Parts: sequence; C-alpha cells; structure tokens
Amino acid sequence: MHLPPLRTTVIGSYPFPSWLEFASQHLDAFGAAEIEEMVEDAVIAAIHDQVTAGLDVITDGEQTRLDFNLSFYGYIDGIAHEQKSPRIFGPPAHDQRGRHQIVGELRAPRGLGAVAEFNRLKKLAPAGPTLKASVPGPYTLSGRLIPNAQYPDRYAVTEALLPIVRKELEELVAAGCQEITVDEPSMSCYAYREDPARFVDIFNRTVAPVVGKCHLSTHLCFGNFKGRAVGPRHYAPMFPAFLDMAVDEIHVEMASREFSELEVIGEIAQRRRVAVGIIDVKSYYIETPQDVADRVRRCLQYTPADKLAFAPDCGLSQTARWASRLKLQNMAAGVQMVRDEMGV
Ligand SMILES: [Zn+2]
Repeated sequence: MHLPPLRTTVIGSYPFPSWLEFASQHLDAFGAAEIEEMVEDAVIAAIHDQVTAGLDVITDGEQTRLDFNLSFYGYIDGIAHEQKSPRIFGPPAHDQRGRHQIVGELRAPRGLGAVAEFNRLKKLAPAGPTLKASVPGPYTLSGRLIPNAQYPDRYAVTEALLPIVRKELEELVAAGCQEITVDEPSMSCYAYREDPARFVDIFNRTVAPVVGKCHLSTHLCFGNFKGRAVGPRHYAPMFPAFLDMAVDEIHVEMASREFSELEVIGEIAQRRRVAVGIIDVKSYYIETPQDVADRVRRCLQYTPADKLAFAPDCGLSQTARWASRLKLQNMAAGVQMVRDEMGV
C-alpha cells in the first residue's frame, strides 16, 4: 500500500446528527427498513464531512452503533442487557454507562457487525480516500462486562472475546478492507498498574492472522467517554513494551496533553509508523490551520514525514458536530500547508 507522507486520518467515531440521537432513543418507533435507511443517511453525512475536509483516510463514523443491540455487545450471546446505568445524574463520567452481567457462554455466531459496516461504507463512499474499519480489541471490549464464576476476572473475559475479535478482523480483510484500527484505549489507560507485556501478548494473538494482510494500527488514548479521561495521561508506562505490538502504526493522544512526552513518537518511529493526535477533541477551542502546521513541524523534529500521520486525539463522537467539522477541515488544511512547504 502506498501511503502519502504526513497522512491525515481519523479515529473511528464521528458525532451523530441530532436527528439520529433522537431517533436512537426511540428505535421502537421505526421499522427495520427505516432504521437501515437512517443509518445510511447518517453514514452519508459522516462521509461528506470527512471527504469535504480533505482527509486521506475516512471511516463510517460508527454511525450504526446506536444502542446496545446495534453495538458490539448486542452481537454477543451470553450478555444480559443492563438497562440502567449505576449513576444517572450529576457530572459526566464513565460510570454513567451500564455494566453488563455475563449469563452464558460468550459467543458471536453472527460476528460483531463490523463487516456489514465496512460493506456499507464501501457502497456509499466516493473513490479516493482510504476506507478504514475500527474494531475494539478484546481487553477494551471486556471493560463493561462483569466477571462471573465461568469468567472469573477481566483477563478471563478478554480471552473469551479474543477469538471473536480475531475472526472479525479476518472477515474484514476477506471483505476487502485494507486498513483496520484495533482500538485498545483500555490498555493505555491501565498499563500503569498492569503488566504491559501481558497486554502486548493479548494484542498480538488477536491480530496474528491479519498481520501483513492490511494496514493495521492501534489507538492508545486515555479515555474520552463524555469527554473525560480515566487513566493517568502518561505514555511512559507503556514503552518500550508496546513497541512490540504487531502493528504498522501506533496512534497516540498528544493535543489535549499539550504534547507532553512528544519524544515518544521518535521512539515509535524507529519500529512503526506513528499517528499523532494533533486535534484536541475535548476542547472547543478550534485549532487554526496555522496551529496545526506548527504542531506538524514539532512532530517532524522527532519523526520523518514518511512515517507520520495525523489525526484527532480520539474519535469525535463526544465533540459537537459543528466543532468536529471545523477541526477536521483545519487539520487537513494545516497539514497541507506543511506538505506544500516541503514539496511533498
Ligand atoms: Zn480514544
């Protein structure tokens, strides 16, 4: 795969249009054909915003993951749908989404839905940008499942989910997907208190069958549910262990951390490509193209252009659409300024 220097990309999610938010809370009112139609309309909107911004890589914005039933857990047998979050009111935080009981063997006979998402994206996207699929890794996917007698801790749940995610990756490649991100933000959030080498072993067993068969990356942020982090925002506990992850590219969150530990991208670039989060998805300050260009130049002090990609810090699902649109436009414009300077 030929990759342009200073490539512009995204982490999977994009904000839902307001009508989709409303509809997702009233899905019972709609027929299956109407839900498919609204999902397609939302994907078309997400594609439009990303293509108009001028990105090299786009996703479907995860516009189909509307509720429990349509997101990954809805595809997995053996999980009870917990209707109520442990905390409803008050300041936004990750404890405002439910955790689910495991009530049987964890299996996904229909897969996790990512192949259908990719096929829809392929059908709706224009020629030009690379189409990327994002799938959570098994450790991240295990985060909202409550261990039980059969699966006594988070690692046991992870091991049960690992072959399910691995099969989904194989099927994405078989469907023609050339770029996949395996999101493992839980690994970056908890590397400080767990064994990072154990995480790498889990990750590499998950991706083993697709290594070398697509452009494979991982996204390592510190959490962004409702715009809040959950881990100590330092990369030091992960490296050098995470350099052994069998990926082509590692994405790190830099903008919201004011580019602290930026030197880690030089360390990554000796082994892998590196995608740098240069747009702060948690802030409503809209980075200007000039800001972006300055940040790109800072990254170039550590990493050659042909190994560098740029993205927001995380998915944009927790950032208002008007701001997300402007941030992507300015990201692409700022990167283009530096490409023009460099003649690449
Ligand atoms: Zn993230």
